[in-house]
Amino acid sequence: MTSPAKGNLPEQKLYIHGRYQDALSGRSFETVNPATGEVICSVQVAGAEDVEAAVASAREGFARWSRMSGTERGRVLNKAQRILRERNRDLAILEVLDTGKPIQEAEVVDVISGADCVEYYAGLAASLHGEHMDLGGDFFYTRREPLGICAGIGAWNYPIQIACWKSAPALACGNAMIFKPAELTPLTALKLAEIYTEAGLPDGCFNVVQGFAETGQALTRHPGIAKVSLTGEVGTGKKVMADAAQSLKHVTLELGGKSPLIVFDDADIEHAVNGALLANFYTQGEVCSNGTRVFVQEGLHDAFLARLVEKTKGLKLGDPLDPKTQIGALISREHCEKVLGYIDLGRKEGAEVAVGGGRPENAALARGNFVLPTVFAGCHDDMAIVREEIFGPVLSLLSFKEEEEVIARANATPFGLSAGVFTRDLARAHRVVARLEAGTCWINTYNVTPIEMPFGGVKQSGIGRENGRIAIEHYTQLKSVYVALNGVDSPY
Ligand code: NAD
Repeated sequence: MTSPAKGNLPEQKLYIHGRYQDALSGRSFETVNPATGEVICSVQVAGAEDVEAAVASAREGFARWSRMSGTERGRVLNKAQRILRERNRDLAILEVLDTGKPIQEAEVVDVISGADCVEYYAGLAASLHGEHMDLGGDFFYTRREPLGICAGIGAWNYPIQIACWKSAPALACGNAMIFKPAELTPLTALKLAEIYTEAGLPDGCFNVVQGFAETGQALTRHPGIAKVSLTGEVGTGKKVMADAAQSLKHVTLELGGKSPLIVFDDADIEHAVNGALLANFYTQGEVCSNGTRVFVQEGLHDAFLARLVEKTKGLKLGDPLDPKTQIGALISREHCEKVLGYIDLGRKEGAEVAVGGGRPENAALARGNFVLPTVFAGCHDDMAIVREEIFGPVLSLLSFKEEEEVIARANATPFGLSAGVFTRDLARAHRVVARLEAGTCWINTYNVTPIEMPFGGVKQSGIGRENGRIAIEHYTQLKSVYVALNGVDSPY
């Protein structure tokens, strides 16, 4: 793999029909290293004609792939997951350069989680089946069939993981996928496409088109595409769903959140603080499921805050490629300014900066989009920093008295992606979790997302689920076949 760190990554083309192809649009954009501000390379943009070419290719790919047995499809996917693991280090470096996240995360989570997903659905591919029912003579059976061509549209925080989480179940079920990475992180999806081809995926079954909202729209509005799966902001989700409605596409939406993390008095304080750190500062806070509203019961509040501040001060921020770095750079200058704007707003709203609260003073980091991990104490539910998704390393600490009260406050949001509860009282943990309006809840941990477990949101955080057996439902449709054995009874 050529090294973008040395500035020698060539212009990136589109990946259509099993090979790199020049975009017909003639347009391109640059992708930038968030930690240094340096251009990594330019990337060609897919215009309407390119999307047409990707759809025509996917149609051909689908015709071959959907006729193969599940076992054969699983074999290809299995080979792909092995290659992903073999190239983990190179892919992780590329992901770090494109996203600014620490290599110590990318190397153990991003590619591995993607490979785990491809492996999981490789295993399921051979087991997909319909059902048979005897009707006392006649009978019917159902066939579980693929949808056709699916579009995957990714966010920039976990680029290769998102590409795998969408493509693996889609391909296992016999669909073809056209994937559009986020414009800020276009690189690793192309590598995934190369790997699928190398593993034996027929040409056209996984195409990558690059670009902005306009390219995404060309997919969501295309009548030849049967489904769209988006990971992105709530506002984008609404637009995608409206566009998809024109041809009644299936949609899966993995959107934003402002999730609550509730810590009761009896919790193990060390584990709860670790949970809060993971729920706020992993990937420098750019995780959709983050528990950014940390509610701590009165009796534990002060001790919790003290330990949280102490541990936050110890986090190492810096060069994402340094294996000791724990906090990398935010995705773009614009996003960095947005996060800093929220920090200013938090101060104006009367919250107290307990630690962090701005950019690091280190001059060597000045060209990167670095923001100190920040804890706001003394927050109230009506503050904008408590209500709105910041998507950066900003934790809001809130205090509560009673279980009933905290459940009501936790649920008082249009979002419903995730939630966490820390307590030693397991009866209480299950009781509270049952009443939390969230798609994924963690008890005494946070942000753990094994591929076997369905993941997704309720309320405005999304529709549908990724991962687990349930994702099969979202990438297939049933056909019922009635079989008559005794002729046709006629009333005429
Ligand atoms: P975004 O909504 O700005 O963009 C997401 C993708 O949609 C990009 O590829 C973008 O080009 C494309 N897009 C934008 N407008 C479009 C349109 N009108 N039609 C079609 N495509 C369009 O989101 P982002 O800034 O890339 O990512 C951050 C957001 O993603 C946060 O809100 C975060 O919570 C969310 N997210 C959710 C999950 C989840 O699983 N629930 C995971 C990661 C990120």
